[in-house]
Amino acid sequence: MTVKVRFAPSPTGRLHVGNIRTALINWLYARKAGGKFVLRIDDTDLERSTKEFEQGIETDLAWLGMGWDEKYNQSARFPIYQEAAERLKASGRLYPAYETAEDLDRRRKVQLSRGQPPIYDRAALKLTAEERKALEAEGRRPHWRFRLEGKRVKWHDLARGDCEVDTASMSDPVLIREDGLYLYTLPSVVDDVDMGITHVLRGEDHVTNTGAQIEIFEALGAVTPTFSHTPLLVGAEGEALSKRLGSMSILMLREAGYEPLAIVSHLARMGTSDNLEAAADLAELIEGFDFGKTGRHPPRYVDADLDRLNAQILHAMSYEQAQARLQNLGADLGEAFWTAIRSNLQKFNDVSAWATVIGGSIEPKVEDAAFLAQAADLLPATLDADSWSSWVNAVKEKTGAKGRGLFMPLRQALTGMDHGPEMAPLLPLIGREKAIKRLLGETA
Ligand code: GLU
Repeated sequence: MTVKVRFAPSPTGRLHVGNIRTALINWLYARKAGGKFVLRIDDTDLERSTKEFEQGIETDLAWLGMGWDEKYNQSARFPIYQEAAERLKASGRLYPAYETAEDLDRRRKVQLSRGQPPIYDRAALKLTAEERKALEAEGRRPHWRFRLEGKRVKWHDLARGDCEVDTASMSDPVLIREDGLYLYTLPSVVDDVDMGITHVLRGEDHVTNTGAQIEIFEALGAVTPTFSHTPLLVGAEGEALSKRLGSMSILMLREAGYEPLAIVSHLARMGTSDNLEAAADLAELIEGFDFGKTGRHPPRYVDADLDRLNAQILHAMSYEQAQARLQNLGADLGEAFWTAIRSNLQKFNDVSAWATVIGGSIEPKVEDAAFLAQAADLLPATLDADSWSSWVNAVKEKTGAKGRGLFMPLRQALTGMDHGPEMAPLLPLIGREKAIKRLLGETA
C-alpha cells in the first residue's frame, strides 16, 4: 500500500501555526513513507473562500519547503459529491429535513429544560410524502441529514490509540444545506475515497466528526482510512490558542524575520519526545518523524522557543548558505565578516546593523575621551586576529583600567553599541583607520 495523505485547508484566511502543524505531520509522514502528499483546497463554501487565500496557502507551504504531489479544489468536484449524495439518498441514509434554525432552536431548548440531550429528534424521518409535498408547496426547501446508525464507532488512532465515538449521542449531521451548499463532512469523505487517501491525519477537534465520517465511508461501501488526531496547540500557560491563532500566521512570522526551518523544527518537535532543537534540514525532520514520539498532552507553543531555534539556525549557518541573502541586503562583506557576527544574530536581518559597523559609518559612543585617546595611541600598526588581546593588555597596563571598565568603553567607541559579537575578529574587520577615528570620537 502506498501511503497517501492530504492537507485540507479552507481558503478563508491565512494559514497559522496550528494549520501548519497539521500540514507538517501529513507532509513528514508522507515523505518518510515514500508516499504522496495531496493539497486539497476545501472551498465548497464559495462565499467565504477566496483565490487570494488559496494563493496564500500555496505561498506559505512552498516557503516552508512543503511541496505537494497533487492538488485539488473541492469547488471543481461538485458532480462527484452529487453522485455520492444520490447514492446515499437511494439507500435511505440521506433524508430531507425542513426545520428552520428557529424550529431547531426551540426544540433544543425544550429538550434541555427536560434534562434531555439536545439531539435532533428525527421528526423529518416521520414525514409522509404528502406532508413533504405540502412543505415544498409552501416554498420550503429541504436540507439533507445523514442518518447515523447510533452505534459505537471504533478505530485505532495513530496518535490516541483505541478510540470510540458513540454516534447515538450525536445529531444526524446536515450534509447539504437548503441552498444546495455541501458542508465539509460529505465532500471530505468522498474525496478521501476518490483520491485513495490511506491516512487522515488531523487535529483532535475532528474526533467526533470521525465517528460520523466512518459511518459515511461505510455507507458508501468504501474502505475506511487510518486516522490520527493530534492534540491541538495551547499557549505558554496551557491556555487555548484559538483566539490568538489569527495573529500567528505564517505570513506574520515570515515578515517578523523567522527562518522557515525554525518554524518547522519548532512545530514538528513540540510535544514530542525529541529535544526541542533546530534540525539541520527537513531531511532530518523526515527521518526522525514517528507517531510513537507524539505525546498525548497538548503541546505548548512558547514564542521564546521559536526565537531560540531561530538563533540556533543562524549561528550554525555557513557563509555559502548565507551569501545570496547577504547580497540581497547589501551586507555581503565576506566570509570573515559573516563568521564574526553570525553568533550575535537573532534574526537574519540583524546582519545589516553589523554591516554598517564594519562597512559603513557609525556614531561612536564616547564617555571618557581621554581614556580612548590613550587607547588610540596604543593601537597596533597592523590589525589581525591577535591584535585585540595584545592591544587590550597594553591599554590595561597603561591606564590601570580592568574588566568591564576596560572592555566596555572600547566596544562602545568601536561599534557604537553595548553588546555584540566578540571584538577580536571585529577589530581587523573595522580596520585601523576607522578604529582610530571612532576612538577619537569621530563619526566614521
Ligand atoms: N477543511 C477541514 C478543516 O480545515 C479539513 C479537515 C480534515 O482534515 O478533514 O478543518
